[in-house]
Amino acid sequence: MTALVIAEHDHATVKPATLNTVTAALACGGDVHVLVAGANAAEASKAAAQIAGVAKVIVADGPSLAENLAENVAAQVLAIAANYSHILFPSTANGKNVAPRVAAKLDVAQISDITKVESPDTFERPIYAGNAIATVQSSDATKVITVRTTGFDAAAATGGSASVETAEGVADSGKSSFVGREVTKSDRPELTAAKIIVSGGRALGSAEKFTEVMTPLADKLNAGLGASRAAVDAGYAPNDWQVGQTGKIVAPQLYIACGISGAIQHLAGMKDSKVIVAINKDEEAPIFSVADYGLVADLFTAVPELTQALSNHS
Ligand SMILES: Cc1cc2nc3c(=O)[nH]c(=O)nc-3n(C[C@H](O)[C@H](O)[C@H](O)COP(=O)(O)OP(=O)(O)OC[C@H]3O[C@@H](n4cnc5c(N)ncnc54)[C@H](O)[C@@H]3O)c2cc1C
Repeated sequence: MTALVIAEHDHATVKPATLNTVTAALACGGDVHVLVAGANAAEASKAAAQIAGVAKVIVADGPSLAENLAENVAAQVLAIAANYSHILFPSTANGKNVAPRVAAKLDVAQISDITKVESPDTFERPIYAGNAIATVQSSDATKVITVRTTGFDAAAATGGSASVETAEGVADSGKSSFVGREVTKSDRPELTAAKIIVSGGRALGSAEKFTEVMTPLADKLNAGLGASRAAVDAGYAPNDWQVGQTGKIVAPQLYIACGISGAIQHLAGMKDSKVIVAINKDEEAPIFSVADYGLVADLFTAVPELTQALSNHS
């Protein structure tokens, strides 16, 4: 029984989501191999070989894999799929783009967004925005799985010494082609990797106020910036800051929710955070039911005060 983890990488480094997925793969009970499908991805494969618990890294290197096109990556996975009992993807935009194609071609049911491995064929996954946990048993020969990364600790990025094997890169499928990429450049930590997240809601009232009030606090804490869907829909914050059921699932060490009511769809994205702080002027706001520390206050006073207090201590 061997599990294959599909690495999330940028050809030079391995993204943290891969580490959580390795932990899930190890819990399946057998050896764990990692596929690095990329172009000039020697550095990423070296990094993958260092991950504790990984027995083998397979590097598929070729121009068809340069831009992470889902059709080509899926074909690459399928080229070696017969060797594996489990194929695990991080539940990221990339992973969710490729996994269903692999499952469909193997004619198996995808097991989505697992948060626990009970046994090699039985997994837990949240449903109804995390309000219920389903235990799913699969009788398929190959388990194609996406892993909710907040459900598993990260494997150690160093300490391993996996062998590295080369596989031939697949030919381009010709079904899609890379046109361009617009990447937001930010010095802030990426939301799903941030240790601290400062998040704002509808109460901010405008994009200008969001920036004026929330950014200094995030700067002070070197935190990622998040937002509720209401704030995103109103144009106060960009789409990729949205935390929740239809946004990003995060579990930082510290999550500070400012002017966010705590709708279940928002809680679904952040309630596994280690410490939750809520600032809301309504003491009945549901966010207080998950908060470790709650402050009933006007955020336009409390957040600048908090920022100032942090400045005084630094
Ligand atoms: C299918 C579906 C998917 C969804 N997915 C998501 C998702 O991924 N993420 C998400 O966030 N939502 C999601 N939603 C929306 C969700 O239901 C809520 O509408 C949304 O989270 C509310 O955002 P909010 O808390 O910013 O706004 P509100 O619910 O309007 O809350 C604003 C809060 O700010 C407080 N407040 C007001 N003024 C101040 C002040 N001056 N100081 C302090 N506090 C103040 C209020 O007391 C209130 O609690 C989804 C909904 C649906 C139906």
